[in-house]
Amino acid sequence: MSPAWFLQTLVAAPFFASRAFLATFVTALVARFGASVPWLGDSRAVEVLAGAPGWFTHDVTLVLLGFVAFLEFVATKNTDARRMMDSADSWMKAGLSLLVSLAILSPSDAALFAPQTMGIGEALVALFPAALVLGLAQMRGRFFSFLGDVDEADDMGLQRLLLWAEDGWVVFGLSFAAFFPLLALVVFVLTLAVLAAAQRGATWLDAKRRDTCAVCGHLHHPTAPHCSSCRTPLEEPAAVGVFGQAASSTARDRDAHPLDLVSRKRCPFCAERLVGRGPSLTCADCGTTTFASHRDLERYLTHLDRQLPKTMLVCFAFSAVPLLGIVPAVIYYRLSLVSGVARYVPPASNMATRWTVRLVNIVLICGQPIPILGAFLLPLMAGTNYALYRRALLRAAR
Ligand SMILES: [Zn+2]
Ligand SMILES: [Zn+2]
Repeated sequence: MSPAWFLQTLVAAPFFASRAFLATFVTALVARFGASVPWLGDSRAVEVLAGAPGWFTHDVTLVLLGFVAFLEFVATKNTDARRMMDSADSWMKAGLSLLVSLAILSPSDAALFAPQTMGIGEALVALFPAALVLGLAQMRGRFFSFLGDVDEADDMGLQRLLLWAEDGWVVFGLSFAAFFPLLALVVFVLTLAVLAAAQRGATWLDAKRRDTCAVCGHLHHPTAPHCSSCRTPLEEPAAVGVFGQAASSTARDRDAHPLDLVSRKRCPFCAERLVGRGPSLTCADCGTTTFASHRDLERYLTHLDRQLPKTMLVCFAFSAVPLLGIVPAVIYYRLSLVSGVARYVPPASNMATRWTVRLVNIVLICGQPIPILGAFLLPLMAGTNYALYRRALLRAAR
């Protein structure tokens, strides 16, 4: 084992934590063709990769890896596929990183499949980058599931944008790291420092956003109507914002406030975030279940129905800006109204509804440039989208 090998596997860790198959594909490409890159090809780092066993850089392996990397690329852009992979994701990435480290470590084809021919110390050293990948991948998973909680259907497009940026960072960053590992190590350490600072900042912000229960001292979200621990009603909870955050004003209507919390996927009793998909979600903190009875659901839907005219009116105003008005209008009606029903529709019917909604929207958007008539299509889009998800929720609850 050489220090160059260790450095190489270490700097590759963040890329494996992002996209394991794409990172493997890029590593295999550099191992195969890196040495023939003018000026850079004779660096010690590329030499290490070029020493990878023949099967790793074989045409068949490259084609297969390219194909799997493409599937991974497609799957990460699909919300349902991403949710399905979430649970095993970080372990799979760590496993793949371990395999690739071992492959580069053992230039003989047989060694990978017969670890006893390899020094046990070397095999143990390969566990280090793999553990790093596991930690980073779990951190990344927590970050994306936080974003998914805040904006379930990615209406703002932030998750999609980050996922695309990640693809670019893996392809260019990993190629760069392969040729300049020392420089990449500096960037890597700096990135870790920034990530650690960001995480501390987030924890600090989260604690700052909490209030203390006067009776039992339990920390609760500022929007909470009750303390989840001693169940005491709390005075003047803060109003809930579009992303489920606490607004600076207090909730004016105490009866409507729990319904507003539910529409932001927070517990109507203690305001903690609800986890999972489907109409009946149980709060992990206080045990309250959403829509325990059909009456609860009807009360909730009536509450949302009342907001529909205002939403349609705002969409009508957006129609004044031809074409460009579509994007903010869709973001607005989804965040303010449609997500309130869509986030309680179980995955299977959610997928079916989403495709129907897309089809309807495409037809309606095509009519948008028509004068006068076009102005009514955005409010119509808001209305039909809401009605479709509303119907799917009612059907799922039955
Ligand atoms: Zn309390
Ligand atoms: Zn609760």
